[in-house]
Amino acid sequence: MIHSPRGVEDLLPQQTLQYQWIEKEAAFLFSLYGYEPIRIPTFERTELFLRSLGKETDAGKQMYTFKDKKGRSLSLRPEATASVVRAYLQHKLYGHSGEWKVYYMGPMFRYERPQAARLREFRQIGVEAIGEISPQLDVEVIEIGAEFFKKIGLANFHIQLNSIGCKRCRPVYEDQLKEYFKLNLANLCSNCRRRYQYNILRVLDCKKKECQPTIKGAPVIGDYLCEDCQDHFKKVRTGLKDAHIEFSIDPHLVRGLDYYTRTIFEIVSSLLGPQATICAGGRYDDLVEELGGPSIPAIGFAIGVDRLLVALKKEHKELHPQYSSVIHIATLDQEGLTAGYSLARILRGQGIRTRVNFSLKSLSSQLKIADKRRARWVIIVGGKEVEEGKFILRDMESGHQEKIGWDEVKHLDRRLKGNG
Ligand SMILES: [Zn+2]
Ligand SMILES: [Zn+2]
Repeated sequence: MIHSPRGVEDLLPQQTLQYQWIEKEAAFLFSLYGYEPIRIPTFERTELFLRSLGKETDAGKQMYTFKDKKGRSLSLRPEATASVVRAYLQHKLYGHSGEWKVYYMGPMFRYERPQAARLREFRQIGVEAIGEISPQLDVEVIEIGAEFFKKIGLANFHIQLNSIGCKRCRPVYEDQLKEYFKLNLANLCSNCRRRYQYNILRVLDCKKKECQPTIKGAPVIGDYLCEDCQDHFKKVRTGLKDAHIEFSIDPHLVRGLDYYTRTIFEIVSSLLGPQATICAGGRYDDLVEELGGPSIPAIGFAIGVDRLLVALKKEHKELHPQYSSVIHIATLDQEGLTAGYSLARILRGQGIRTRVNFSLKSLSSQLKIADKRRARWVIIVGGKEVEEGKFILRDMESGHQEKIGWDEVKHLDRRLKGNG
């Protein structure tokens, strides 16, 4: 038997229904804020990601890269922002007035060491808003993330905020950081010593115990922000307070990707342990230009849907929907099957999800199947019922049974409404 590759999982029907529920809620909420859906390709030219993510970031190194038949290097998307910006440039959407606001959902791919809630194919939902520098847009984007988690019923989460400055002030900070870590290099893990060389900010992101005391004493970017960045950050904080959105400042918060500027944030579940980030985002004011476009600011976030579902389960949330089919038709013989099939057509015409049993097994085994399929009701039909013109309707929750005729079947939707 052939198994799926490591780090890649099937989403069976019950799980898929949960993902669909999350996606539906997200699409509805994002549209309230004026965001429109976009679908970007699953793979792009490798160059796009190398230019946007940076070669020395984890995401850049963990790409699934391959050559096509003409020898061109392609990569499965490790995230969506680069593709969204590429689409924005390719279709010259910056000619239009106002910011361009889109949302996406779909699988991303990274060659990670698989562990709980960290897969090689994982699913993200995200928003991107390109073309506006106003700090109020940062507030809106963070609000959308917080509103979304509230809406789906997540109780234990909080927002962590920071500013990582711009290309004017960040290099000054990075120099300070380099100086500081240079003196403490011996106290850092091997991974951090590598990051010290290529991606100094990421040292702050290390979760290893041995590195924590050193990281704690490191300079904070807040002390090095230029005046514009300070002003921007202040307005974001005020805007969030005005919108009654709770957050805390994490002065050592950095993001794993090179392209971020100014406002960055993470939304963290309190119940998830080390893999606690369920949403991450921020500004990327230089990325459009770096990918060959005009200088246009932008901001966005991505939600890790797989982790979000783990967090919801930890909170013992009942995940929708419960019933895969509403009515199961149990057929006792050939006559019952013929009539049952007609009944199903009438029920489906009323918008009721109906499943017919074709196997003609014993009634008790069909009831077991109906129960397994989480059917809310069962209609039992055999030759005797067909002759009588009356069928047995069984409530699977109470076990109550009654007889109903063709006329009642034709109007069953009214009766079942609000009942499952
Ligand atoms: Zn700055
Ligand atoms: Zn470390």
